[in-house]
Amino acid sequence: MARNSKPATRNAQLFRRLPSVDELLRNPAIAPIAEHDGRAATLDAAHAVLDRLRAEIAAGRLDEPQVQLAVAGLAGAVERELRRSLQPSLRPVINATGVVLHTNLGRAPLASAALDHAREVATAYSNLEFNLDSGERGKRDVHLDRLFARLLGEYPDVSTVVVNNNAAAVLLALNTLADGSEVVVSRGELVEIGGSFRIPDVMTKSGATLREVGTTNRTRLADYERAITDRTRLILRVHRSNFQIVGFTEQPSLQELVELAHRRGLPVVEDLGSGALLDLRTIGIGGEPGVGDSLRAGVDVVTYSGDKLLGGPQAGMLSGRREVIARIRSNPLFRALRVDKLIYAALEATLLAYVRQDHDGVPALRMMRLSAHEIGQRAQALARMLQPPLTAEVIEGESVIGGGAAPGATLPTRLLAITMAGLSADEVATRLRNNDPPIVARVEEGRVLLDLRTVFPEQDAEIAQALNSLSVRQ
Ligand SMILES: *Cc1c(COP(=O)(O)O)cnc(C)c1O
Repeated sequence: MARNSKPATRNAQLFRRLPSVDELLRNPAIAPIAEHDGRAATLDAAHAVLDRLRAEIAAGRLDEPQVQLAVAGLAGAVERELRRSLQPSLRPVINATGVVLHTNLGRAPLASAALDHAREVATAYSNLEFNLDSGERGKRDVHLDRLFARLLGEYPDVSTVVVNNNAAAVLLALNTLADGSEVVVSRGELVEIGGSFRIPDVMTKSGATLREVGTTNRTRLADYERAITDRTRLILRVHRSNFQIVGFTEQPSLQELVELAHRRGLPVVEDLGSGALLDLRTIGIGGEPGVGDSLRAGVDVVTYSGDKLLGGPQAGMLSGRREVIARIRSNPLFRALRVDKLIYAALEATLLAYVRQDHDGVPALRMMRLSAHEIGQRAQALARMLQPPLTAEVIEGESVIGGGAAPGATLPTRLLAITMAGLSADEVATRLRNNDPPIVARVEEGRVLLDLRTVFPEQDAEIAQALNSLSVRQ
C-alpha cells in the first residue's frame, strides 16, 4: 500500500496508467495479431487482460512500478490470452485407466477407417438421401439397413433405424408403440445410467406410463401376467447394464417373456444398452447378450448404443421386425432424433469392418482382445524407460469394459504401478492430467496404476516421457 494517498485516489492514478482498449488495439505489436486472428477475438482478449489488471489494482495488489511493468507487457499478455482462448477445449487424452468404454473419456475411440469415410463423405456432397439408380429422392437408412440385416444374421426380416443415442431410441420406441398407454417393466431393471440421468425419466417423457412389476431382486412371469390390462401396449425388458443383482434373484427368461407377450398380442421391446454385434464369448467375455440373440428369441425391437460395445460413433439403433420399424420411422419424432451424414459414414465403415471380420480394425474390440501377456510386455518395456526417482513395478490387475457392458465383466491385465519419491500418488496423477496430452490414470493404495490396455501402443513412449519429466516440472 502506498502510504501517502488514500486507496481510492491512489487507484484512480494507477487506472489512468492503463491504455483504453482502442489504444491497445492500435499498438503496433497487436495490430497484426488482430489482422490475423480477427478483431473480435483480439478485442475480447484485450478486454479480458485489462479487466484482470483493473481487478488487481482495485484489490490493492499492485504498486506504481508493477503497473508500469504490466502496461509494458500488455501486448504479450493479450497475445497469450488470445492463443489460450483460441485453443480447443475438447482435446485428445491418453486413457490409462483400463476402462475400455469410459463414458467421461468419450466411450469408444473411432476406427480410423470410420473417420476416413466420414471425412470423405462429409467434406463433399453425397448420396445420403439420393437414389443414384433412379435419380430420385432416397432414404438415409438404406445405407446401414443392409449391413445391420447382414450382421444380425438368420433374421431376414430385420430392419434397423438409427437415432442420436440409445436413450433417444428407447424414447422413440415407447412413444411410437405405447404413447398414452401402459408399458409393463420389471422393477429390477429400471436403471440409472449415470450423470444422474435416469432412463425411467426418459421413458416417462415418451407419454407411456410405466407399470413396474415385481421387486428389485425378483420378478416372476406371473407378475407380468397380472399387470397386463386393456391399457397395456407393450412389455419392456431393460438390460441391467451397470449393475448386477446377485443372490436371491429371479427373472423370467427372454423366451418366456416373449411367449407371454405374443400370446397377449403385445410386442416386446428390449433396451439392450451395449448391444454386441459380435459373440463376445469368442473373446472371453460371458454374459453379454448379442443383438442377434434377442431378435432370435423373438423380441420385436431391440435398442442399443453405437459407441459402447459396437465400437462406433455415438448413435442409438432400433433393430427389429420390419413392420414395427416402419411404424417407428414414420413417427415425426424420428425426424427430430435422426443423425447426420457424419454418423452414417462412421457407422457404415465400422459395420464394414465387422462384415470383413476385421475385429482389430475396431479399436474397442482390439483393446478387449489384447491378452494380459501382451499388455505385460508393453508395461515391462515402459518400466525400463523410467528413471529415478520413479519406481515402477508390473503387477496383475483387471481392466473393466465399462459403458454399461457386461456388469462385473473384467479382463485380466497387467498394470504398471508407479511411485515417486517426494510426491504423493494423487500429486503424480494430477501432474499426469496436466501433461500435454493429458494422461488419465487410476490411483489405488498410494500408487498410480497405468493399464496399457486402453493406451494406443504409439502412446507408450509419450507416457514414459511424461513420467520422466514429472520431477523437473512444477
Ligand atoms: C447406456 C445405456 C443407455 C443409454 O444409452 P446412450 O447411448 O448413452 O443414450 C440406456 N439403457 C441402457 C440399458 C444402457 O446401458
